Amino acid sequence: MRIRNPWPVAIFRLVAVLVVCGLAGWAGGYPVVGLLVGTAGYLGWQMRNLVRLERWLRKGRRIHPPQSQGLWEVIFDNLYRLQRRHRVRRQRLATLLRRFKESANAMPDATVVLRGQGEMQWWNQSATRYLGLRWPQDEGQRVANLLRHPDFAAFLQEADYRRAIKVPSPVDERIVLEVRIVPYGDNQRLLLGRDVTRLHRLETMRRDFVANISHELRTPLTVIQGMAETLAEYGVTDVDELRGSLDMVQQQTRRMGRLIDDLLLLSRLETGERPLESNTVNVPSLLRGLAEEARTVSAGRHEITLEVDETLRLSGDENELRSAFSNLVNNAVKYTPDQGRIAVRWFQQGEEARVEVSDSGIGIPPHHIPRLTERFYRVDSGRTTSSGGTGLGLAIVKHVLSRHQGQLHITSQPEHGSTFTCSFREFFRIDGEQTGPRSAGRPARASTATATRS
Ligand code: ADP
Repeated sequence: MRIRNPWPVAIFRLVAVLVVCGLAGWAGGYPVVGLLVGTAGYLGWQMRNLVRLERWLRKGRRIHPPQSQGLWEVIFDNLYRLQRRHRVRRQRLATLLRRFKESANAMPDATVVLRGQGEMQWWNQSATRYLGLRWPQDEGQRVANLLRHPDFAAFLQEADYRRAIKVPSPVDERIVLEVRIVPYGDNQRLLLGRDVTRLHRLETMRRDFVANISHELRTPLTVIQGMAETLAEYGVTDVDELRGSLDMVQQQTRRMGRLIDDLLLLSRLETGERPLESNTVNVPSLLRGLAEEARTVSAGRHEITLEVDETLRLSGDENELRSAFSNLVNNAVKYTPDQGRIAVRWFQQGEEARVEVSDSGIGIPPHHIPRLTERFYRVDSGRTTSSGGTGLGLAIVKHVLSRHQGQLHITSQPEHGSTFTCSFREFFRIDGEQTGPRSAGRPARASTATATRS
């Protein structure tokens, strides 16, 4: 039972002891001695309890408090209760701290607690990954010593924490971090670093794209504008000259139209907004049509040959495949000087079916080849823009092929020519009238028909 106020009982006990001892002493003829004995006994009892208290506190908080009575029972009881409350609170705090650390560690953003002059006090695992911080070696180090970038130094100096800055990660230059500092508490700061590499790349791509497209559209517009101004200023003096100018205007508007068509196609392919149609594509007949068109464009300037395996088919979207193959054939015509040779082939090679367009044209220096499928990438912008190309052809080829699980392979030798090969692992053959998928990799049938024309 809990005693509310132990003092009246304690005083009563002291008085009772003194009275009993005093009376006993008085009965024996020595009342003072009796009182002294009573006082000494009382003090001894107090001392004993003090010794037990000291031993209990020294031996640790886990053992139960000593048993006692009266005032000392209350003291032991209250101390024990305080200790228990304190222990529960500490455990709760430790759990809270553990949970905070766990959640901070699970955060994908680098988080560093800074104090005073920017000394690092604590950080999470993402900070170790993105900033290369080592525990415990870097504890107490100034963050500016580890994130050594002039922009970051200026950012710290400025102390305008409303804005964020972008800096490369000290661990890997290719990773771009958006760093922000949040002040809190008593001169404490939290440094947050978010990986924005993808976003940064997209932003750069968007900027480049806008710059490229503006340039591409401005070129034909400048020509058209020039013509219009000349006509407005001098009028029509010569009909032949007017015809020439109108031809030029038509050429430039066609180019702008092609550019817009290619852009729309590329955007449809990239967003994948239209699901891929999966029909049987008669590749031999498709390539025959393209070769015919190429011959018309070439107007006898090139020797164009076609060699196709008549039973080999693809399943996919005919329009998309036509765009891809026609870009390759048209490029061959564009980049092959007069009297050059262009060969278009459709055949099975091992486990793949391949469309191969090779030419004896100007060729491509090796270092350009990995970048050819980038939008607006050109080997020689002067020469290719004059040939009317949009710079999007090979980007379209790449996207169409990836939608058909195909791959583009380019080999080229400057001054000798290039070969563009589209390989597909999923294809099939037809047997006479019957159509049916065959597993890739079966040996080609002997009924291969070859059509060669020039
Ligand atoms: P473009 O519309 O400029 O032809 P493409 O994306 O089709 O754009 O081609 C990208 C670049 O690759 C071209 O500008 C050209 O420099 C180069 N190229 C493409 N095909 C050939 C080829 N058959 N021979 C030489 N260079 C080529």
